[in-house]
Amino acid sequence: MSAVIIDGVAIARKVRTEISERAQKLLAQYKVVPGLAVIIVGNDPASAVYVRNKARACAEVGINSDVMRFDATVTEAELIAQIEKLNANPAVHGILVQLPLPPTISVRRILETIAVEKDVDGFHLYNVGGLVIGDTVFPPCTPYGVQKILEHENISVEGKNVTVVGASNIVGKPMALMLMQKEATVAVCHVKTRNLAEYTILADILVVAAGKPNLIVPQMVKTGAVVIDVGINRLPDGRLCGDVEFEGVSKKASHITPVPGGVGPMTVTMLLDNTVGAAERAAKLRGPA
Ligand code: NAD
Repeated sequence: MSAVIIDGVAIARKVRTEISERAQKLLAQYKVVPGLAVIIVGNDPASAVYVRNKARACAEVGINSDVMRFDATVTEAELIAQIEKLNANPAVHGILVQLPLPPTISVRRILETIAVEKDVDGFHLYNVGGLVIGDTVFPPCTPYGVQKILEHENISVEGKNVTVVGASNIVGKPMALMLMQKEATVAVCHVKTRNLAEYTILADILVVAAGKPNLIVPQMVKTGAVVIDVGINRLPDGRLCGDVEFEGVSKKASHITPVPGGVGPMTVTMLLDNTVGAAERAAKLRGPA
């Protein structure tokens, strides 16, 4: 068997076209341009790249983005005051605080300050709670991207055995909750799981987000499984790879996402989706221009 290689770049392009059309409609009907405010603290090089990509992607679909840079010495109170200003600004529909933050600042307190209706990353406790009961307004972008990929490939999760490898708050746990909501039977594995292969081999759909190159080898994968590789790892020679041994597993799986070019492009895309969604809700509340 040779797996279908899922083209995340092509899916992202299609979804972004739809998002851009929604932004144009908002402008025509309500004279509203969706606005995203991004707060970045310090000079972490990876964060700088992510923020630049987000700003560029916003411009491409017709979202106004405003990047606010703070020195690493900024206080928690100053950041909170800035977020409160953004909460009150009707031109800002989404607020994103790029993580990580310096250790002197409480990530939890910062995230809880973001107004729930502007929490486009979906990390506020209110939105996390919404995920638990299947009623979230802002699904976190990476698992939301995986969900979109599965929908796009017409892969139903209902009744399927899905194993999620990785249980972080930003990927593994929300992914598992979203899959449960769609009536999959979900196993969640993590670094303390004994005999990971016992769980992965059962999976009709295997989602891997551990950050460990070659963690998943062909013997751990059921023939015909759908394999979604969320991992992004930088090899010593500078190349990027996922968590799945791609060559071998792609001979056994029915579908597989590559790294790069699989889940990655969808994460920013779903941030755009959440931001336009926030602007649509705000505009409908306020009524036509
Ligand atoms: P994290 O470090 O916060 O969490 C990793 C999780 O994997 C933990 O639950 C840990 O217990 C588990 N894990 C680690 N080693 C394991 C092992 N040997 N066996 C089983 N479980 C193991 O990481 P994260 O933020 O969730 O990110 C995971 C990976 O996904 C990283 O490679 C990250 O770069 C990538 N990522 C990609 C995107 C994207 O857009 N494609 C977005 C976010 C994260």
